[in-house]
Amino acid sequence: MRHSHQRNTILEAVRAKPVHPTAYQVFESVKEQIPNISLATVYRDLGQLADNGIINTIKKGNVVRYDGNTMIHQHFYCEECGSLFDQELFDEKFVFQLKTKIVHEIENFDLMLTGTCIKCKNNGDKLKC
Ligand SMILES: [Zn+2]
Ligand SMILES: [Zn+2]
Repeated sequence: MRHSHQRNTILEAVRAKPVHPTAYQVFESVKEQIPNISLATVYRDLGQLADNGIINTIKKGNVVRYDGNTMIHQHFYCEECGSLFDQELFDEKFVFQLKTKIVHEIENFDLMLTGTCIKCKNNGDKLKC
């Protein structure tokens, strides 16, 4: 019982902001509610949630992030601030349309666009002035 409460708290932390937190960010936010939780426990529970398909993992470089949104979606990664944004570039309708002589079935929808986010661009403009 206590165990499932702990895992639900971890799940809520993944689904809450910041989107796509690292295990450490999840640990930091869960710690406020469960002060004696360890980072190892957070890692283990995140692993179990991912194994069960309740959350997704996203690898960027050697950093693993967790995604509470398991619907088909893609990501935009800002090279400057390291933020990872959800981007719905294509959905089931698009995939249906994509079925051609080449594409039979798409199983993996992972796609990461990289660049600079608007917030970083605006900050850069300010610094130039
Ligand atoms: Zn940025
Ligand atoms: Zn996402």
